[in-house]
Amino acid sequence: MGRRLIRGVSGAALFLASVALLSMRHRAAREAAPYPAIGEGMLERPGQQSEGSPAGAGGGGHKDPKLHPPEVHRAEGGLTLEDIFIAVKTTKRFHQSRMELLLDTWISQASEQTYIFTDEEDDTLKRRMGGRVIFTNCSAEHSHLALSCKMAAEFDAFLASGLSWFCHLDDDNYLNPRALLKLLSSYAETWDVYLGKPSLNRPIRASETLPNNQTKSVRFWFATGGAGFCISRKLARKMVPWASGRNFLSTSELIRLPDDCTVGYIIECKVGGQLTPSALFHSHLESLQLIPTSQLTQQVTLSYGVFENKLNVIELSGPFSPQEDPSRFRSLHCHLYPDTSWCLQAVGW
Ligand code: UDP
Ligand code: MN
Repeated sequence: MGRRLIRGVSGAALFLASVALLSMRHRAAREAAPYPAIGEGMLERPGQQSEGSPAGAGGGGHKDPKLHPPEVHRAEGGLTLEDIFIAVKTTKRFHQSRMELLLDTWISQASEQTYIFTDEEDDTLKRRMGGRVIFTNCSAEHSHLALSCKMAAEFDAFLASGLSWFCHLDDDNYLNPRALLKLLSSYAETWDVYLGKPSLNRPIRASETLPNNQTKSVRFWFATGGAGFCISRKLARKMVPWASGRNFLSTSELIRLPDDCTVGYIIECKVGGQLTPSALFHSHLESLQLIPTSQLTQQVTLSYGVFENKLNVIELSGPFSPQEDPSRFRSLHCHLYPDTSWCLQAVGW
C-alpha cells in the first residue's frame, strides 16, 4: 500500500515536472540540425509541426543541464543524450501494461529524448510524456504493413528532429541511457553506422520484386527490432529514397518482410552500408538469465517476454519479488539508479 502511494506520488511528481519542463524544452530542432545547409525543413511533413511532434516540440527554449543527472548527459567525445532521438513503438493495448512500466523506469531518465509512436490517442500517456507522443494513424495490427507504417513515422520524425542518432525500441525494452551514450560515443558522427543485435547468425535471404514482375534473390544482415537498434544521421540521410514517407511501405512490400528486416535491406542492399553487431542489445528471443548480474549495468537494452514457452527475464534478486515485478524492470532500475525514491522505499529506507 505504502509502495503504491509512493509510486502514485512519484508519478504525480513526474507529471508536474514534465508540465514545468514543457516551457523549457531543449533546443529547437532546427537549431540542432548538424547539416543546416541541406535543409532539414524539406523533410518535414505538414502535420509534423503539431503539438505532439518532435519538430514542433522544439519551442525555441533552452535546455537546462541542471535538470538532468550530469553523468548521463555528456560522454567523452562530446556526444550528449540530447543528440539522440529515441523512438518507442507501442500500440493501444500496451499503453497501460507496458508503457507505464517504462515511464516509471528508464524513460524517466531520458524523457526529453524519447518519443512514443502509437495508434490511439491517450491523454494519460500524452500528459506523462509532455507531448512527445505521436499518433501515427497506422492501424493497430501486428501486420507487416501496420508495423512498417509506424517505423516510417519514427524515421520521418527523426529526420525532422535534426538529431545525430536514431534509436528504435519496442515497448518491452529497457534502455540504459548511460550505456547507450557510452556506446554511441565510440563512433564518429560522420560515419555510416547501423548498430544492433543480428537477428540470425547468418544473413537473411529474401526475394525482391523487380519492376518487370521478375524477382531477384537478395541477402542481408538486419538488427532485430525487438532488441532495439541505432542508426547515425549520416546513414539515415542516405536511406531517405527508400525509407522516408511512403517509400518505407513500398520498400517493405518489395521484399514482403517485417519493418526491422526492411531497415536492414535498405541499409545493406540499397545504401551499401553494413550492420555492426553489438552484444549489448537484447531481445526476449534469447535467454536473458544468461547475462551475469555483474554485467547488467553495461547492457544497452534488455527485454522480457516469453521464449520457448517460458517466462524469459533477466536474473536479479531484488529489491522487488518476481510477483511484484514480473518483468524485473523495476528491480533493474533500482540496480542502476538506487537513489530513486521508490527504490529507497523498497529497501526500507
Ligand atoms: N505492436 C504494435 N502493434 C501491434 C502489436 C505489437 O505496434 O498490433 C508493437 C508492440 O507494442 C511492440 C512491438 O510491436 O513494441 C513488438 O510486439 P510484441 O512484443 O508484442 O511482439 P514480439 O514481436 O516481440 O513477439
Ligand atoms: Mn516483444
